[in-house]
Amino acid sequence: MRFHLDTSEIYIPDQLPVEQALARTTHLCVSAHQDDIEIMAARPILECFQQKEKWFTGVVVTDGRGSPRDDLYKDYTDEEMRLVRFKEQRKAAIVGEYAAQVMLDYPSKVVKDGSRQEPVDDLLELFKAAGPEVVYTHNLADKHDTHVSVALRVVSALRSLPAEKRPKKLFGCEVWRALDWMADADKAPMDVSEHENLQAALLGVFDSQIAGGKRYDLASMGRRRANATYFETHGVDLTTGLSYAMDMTPLITDDRLEPLAFVHQMIQHFVQDVDERILRVK
Ligand SMILES: [Zn+2]
Repeated sequence: MRFHLDTSEIYIPDQLPVEQALARTTHLCVSAHQDDIEIMAARPILECFQQKEKWFTGVVVTDGRGSPRDDLYKDYTDEEMRLVRFKEQRKAAIVGEYAAQVMLDYPSKVVKDGSRQEPVDDLLELFKAAGPEVVYTHNLADKHDTHVSVALRVVSALRSLPAEKRPKKLFGCEVWRALDWMADADKAPMDVSEHENLQAALLGVFDSQIAGGKRYDLASMGRRRANATYFETHGVDLTTGLSYAMDMTPLITDDRLEPLAFVHQMIQHFVQDVDERILRVK
């Protein structure tokens, strides 16, 4: 398995040979940064935890160099910060018992440049080696440029695969901008009621980000709880934790569907939902 950058890394928590480790993957998440996976894709991590037939692989595209820093880390250089973030991501892979954790190590500016093919090439190699049934990434309405760039590179890489080799499902998950706004019929709810302890541990290992002044651990658990309660207006809570995803599968079943046109459909459904209610009760 060769990626464009020599500094990229494939970490296998149980030390199986790389090809074997990747080939067992059933669920795979591609994120922009270290910690995004654990914020947005707790459901597939939990679904694969301690299962013989289901394995989760995490892929982080960027190098983590530019992150804000404070506390213990406030005088760290960009390179020291990168090493800390790699180490934290490996800790999450151990806690979550991932099949593999890949770090592609690209600077954000490379990922955000749509003319650069390297991240797409690397993702394509990974998809071929891992053959996941379900792929998770950022949703197209996220408000972070690097997140949306990663989602677009994932779609490009998946479209390079022959139809029969593509995953069955592609989900865009919530980090920077929750998906509560989506019409309920469009939401793909992911039940994360179980193993709150593991969820907290997975979020908690990213000390450099949390000590950097952002309580992503509390905020993410709070969002899951809020989603669970606010999902149903007229029923009791069916779950104690919910994450939402945008089902982006149409983008890998119809190669002519433009990502922009696809996300506009979702936004249009939101507009319709608001309009219909106001017109009904005014
Ligand atoms: Zn991120």
